[in-house]
Amino acid sequence: LEPAYSFMIRTRTPGGVVSPRQWLKLDAIATTYAERGLRITTRQAFQFHGVIKTELKSTMQAINAALIDTLAACGDVNRNVAVAANPQVSASHAQVFAQAAALSEHLLPNTRAYYEIWLDEERVDGSGSEDEPIYGNAYLPRKFKIGFAIPPYNDVDVFAQDLGYIAIIEDGELLGYNVTIGGGMGATHGDAETYPRVADVIGFVTPDQVIDIGVAVVTAQRDFGNRAVRKRARLKYTIDDRGLEWFKAEVERRAGFPLLPARAFGFRHNGDRFGWVDSDGDAGHGGIAHLTLRIPAGRIVDGALDGLGDSVTHLSGLREIAQLLDGHDGAEFRMTPNQNLVIAGVPAALRAQVDALVAQHGLDGHVRASAVRRNALACVALPTCGLAMAEAERYLPDFVGEVEKLLAKHAIADASINLRISGCPNGCSRPYLGEIALVGKAPGRYNLMLGADHRGQRLNTLYRENIAEPEILAALDPLFAGYASERDGEEGFGDYLVRRDVVSVPYPTPTGIPV
Ligand code: SF4
Repeated sequence: LEPAYSFMIRTRTPGGVVSPRQWLKLDAIATTYAERGLRITTRQAFQFHGVIKTELKSTMQAINAALIDTLAACGDVNRNVAVAANPQVSASHAQVFAQAAALSEHLLPNTRAYYEIWLDEERVDGSGSEDEPIYGNAYLPRKFKIGFAIPPYNDVDVFAQDLGYIAIIEDGELLGYNVTIGGGMGATHGDAETYPRVADVIGFVTPDQVIDIGVAVVTAQRDFGNRAVRKRARLKYTIDDRGLEWFKAEVERRAGFPLLPARAFGFRHNGDRFGWVDSDGDAGHGGIAHLTLRIPAGRIVDGALDGLGDSVTHLSGLREIAQLLDGHDGAEFRMTPNQNLVIAGVPAALRAQVDALVAQHGLDGHVRASAVRRNALACVALPTCGLAMAEAERYLPDFVGEVEKLLAKHAIADASINLRISGCPNGCSRPYLGEIALVGKAPGRYNLMLGADHRGQRLNTLYRENIAEPEILAALDPLFAGYASERDGEEGFGDYLVRRDVVSVPYPTPTGIPV
């Protein structure tokens, strides 16, 4: 006898794109092997929770049979590559997505161990001397995250990534990418040596240079990242320790070409755009449409409350939509980095049927929810994550409800405020880029962080430390009152707080953005 171990499995799904056929297989795997359905992560992957040890191998094999793997979804390697999912940029999405998927493939470890352990591949070399030109014999000092953004939307929070690519598109043509380095969310409470950091823009590359510059950044971090102090091992600390210009020069030396000056760009927000978007007029995309659905905390399950008072059947509803779209060329499911879901490439003839299924299964939360609820993010936290200090996913619906009451009291119920909760300072829900964020300190207690912008370009800062819900709401009440009466046009809540010096933001915004 041994303890009843259970595991979490995370997929590698670059850009979070799967076909309807793959969706059906993932649904079957979740239903057969996992607890609590499918979960969309903030990096556009699926997580299966509660897979018991004796069924681990069967589950891994079933995932691979769906032509999806879990290789390098965890560990000190390049993680799942995030890609802008916003349907309003769908014509560009295919091009950028293809480059992101190619980079993801290029940065995979060469080891066959994954295939030998999980897929029963015959062991051909027992020497352990596989050639790993990118990862070497010790892999990276720490995990590594890459994101591709397509302005004007920053749904991937590109400045939170170790390495980011900001697509520069003119007249429908992809000219290349601005490159960003050194973003990261993780921190440790009470340790000034650790901190969240927004990335810096270091220059521009053409599409054919995407992989070379990526390899140069990853290998520079491999060779110069801090391997002695693990909490200082992320790229952001390497850059701060050695200097941005030094690191950039090292990257250019390895790539064999200089970065060109960064091109102008502008982000509007880092949320998702909900509801239907017509693709008519998009080159190659005419006659189809895309529907973005709100998935609370990314959890796709039947019988759960959706935070709006209804018991919903999201798992069954999406299964029926996948069955409807299966076999239709170009139809795909696209997870967003905000844990929502785009039903993309829906033929016009099927739109009404999709709408009916959405309504029948309570998938219309994007219509019924307030703006603050639609955009809210939470990490898994308790009871699933062993690092959690406080609730996040399970607390989010109730906390948002209290915030909604406060907003209504001040007649700003429509305010689109970016709210995020993390169960610990590791920051999986990117809380330091939330206009309002709770970061778990202890059960029922949080650090209240305020003052980020809504474009993902400015970090928030600590406003009140280690407080419980009544104090959090008491702190927000007068701030909402001021925002209601003093906001400047479309000014965001975070921008208002900074303009009025309610919070002073000590962190720099990204450097290198062309003005
Ligand atoms: Fe990540 Fe911490 Fe949330 Fe766990 S509790 S999911 S480590 S932020």
